[in-house]
Amino acid sequence: MTVSVVLFTADLRVHDHPPLRAAVDAAAEVVPLFVRDPAVDRAGFAAPNRLAFLADCLADLDARLGERGGRLVVRTGDTVTEACGVVRQADADEVHMAAGHSAFARAREAGLRRALESDGRRLYVHDAVTTVVPPGDITPQGSDHFAVFTPYLRRWVSEPLRTPLTAPRKVPVPTGLRSDPLPDRASLADVSEGLATGGETEGRRRLVAWLSRHADTYEEIHDDLAGDATSRLSPYLHFGAVSATEAVHRARARGGAGAEAFVRQLCWRDFHQQVLAARPRSAVEDYRPRHDRWRRGEEAEADLKAWREGRTGYPVVDAALRQLAHEGWMHNRGRLLAASFLAKTLYLDWREGARHFLALLVDGDIANNQMNWQWVAGTGTDTRPHRVLNPVLQGKRYDPSGAYVRRWVPELADLAGPLIHEPWRLKGLARAAYDYPEPIVDLAAGLSRFRQARGRD
Ligand code: FAD
Repeated sequence: MTVSVVLFTADLRVHDHPPLRAAVDAAAEVVPLFVRDPAVDRAGFAAPNRLAFLADCLADLDARLGERGGRLVVRTGDTVTEACGVVRQADADEVHMAAGHSAFARAREAGLRRALESDGRRLYVHDAVTTVVPPGDITPQGSDHFAVFTPYLRRWVSEPLRTPLTAPRKVPVPTGLRSDPLPDRASLADVSEGLATGGETEGRRRLVAWLSRHADTYEEIHDDLAGDATSRLSPYLHFGAVSATEAVHRARARGGAGAEAFVRQLCWRDFHQQVLAARPRSAVEDYRPRHDRWRRGEEAEADLKAWREGRTGYPVVDAALRQLAHEGWMHNRGRLLAASFLAKTLYLDWREGARHFLALLVDGDIANNQMNWQWVAGTGTDTRPHRVLNPVLQGKRYDPSGAYVRRWVPELADLAGPLIHEPWRLKGLARAAYDYPEPIVDLAAGLSRFRQARGRD
């Protein structure tokens, strides 16, 4: 009996899954394997919210495989050792997995290939499973990656898109293989109260529902903080519970300006992946150094703490940070405002902000988080690196009714109109009635400090 192994990583689904399809086609029996590798935690990729979401994804994957006559085999330990152990026990000829693009994923893949080949087995790595266009597939003349989004988008949209695969009807798994228990979400501590439910079933339901309900108006509403009508698919895409390729197909089939704008957002995801794949050090180092001398010391620490706690005195920034704490997710406009406030207005190292986001974001992704932070800090790929977002004007523009602030900063809930974005305008007793901090920085002073630091004065 021929056997193949599918090693699941950031592709926790059965639909549109090229490695699973190839493994099913190649052998009479298939071992769907997930390895819970402590090295992933040590590399800083694990956080309670993502572990909880991962537990949901694995439970759902196991159930979807169960419907097809199979099950998920879970092992704990070093990925290469565990995968090779399963290969030997099942006497499998080959292993199929999705290409990963971080330095960590590439090292894991190289290690596995060496170990399997020295044992006379083969590793097949499938492209375009976690991204739509694999990093490195499209490059500008004279460089290994695109450093500017618009020319990348132009090439990306004209790339041929593979047709999404249906889920295999049967996944016959050999009997007698040991599996560790699936991780249990309920046993995890420090999980955000409002965290979404993970898994392919929920991800697919959201994709279909969102496209039919909100895609047509996406262009107009994607920045409306209170409207909260973006797809919220980012965690499902991060864990591969939803295929980005299938999302593009479905959006294009729907058509219209909103669906196209959504597809453009998916292109950003690939854009950051190809930057990080070409420049892995950008996860920790400035992509374009600006010779910043970020603030340090006691006062800087106090500002960082206030920012993390959502107590900066700027309501829309605080609302965004509190949403992050409560849901493990933040609206994109909130991310832009919170990040600009930290890196530019407070002039604190973007890595501090990125670390806080990664500790909480359920979609926390090394490429998208670090490269978006660099974009906002002006050390990345933004073509206007020195612009600074004003949280009061942005609040009034993207939360005109104050409903977003009211939702997340209950201390200010009974303030009406634009005042909710500048509560310091209240005087005397009226001001004292609100248990809400004074602004930790004067916006004009923050702006001039930043401009001076960047030699813009
Ligand atoms: P939608 O508006 O519905 O967009 C659809 C999909 O497009 C998203 O799910 C996401 O996969 C992708 N996308 C949208 N905007 C971007 C973008 N700017 N960069 C890359 N992909 C994008 N996104 C992450 O997935 N993980 C992160 O760790 C992350 N960190 C961020 C940090 C900062 C400072 C900023 C400014 C943005 C960050 N983003 C990150 C990008 C973006 O904010 C989220 O992808 C988006 O808010 C998720 O919500 P949604 O699924 O409703 O997005």
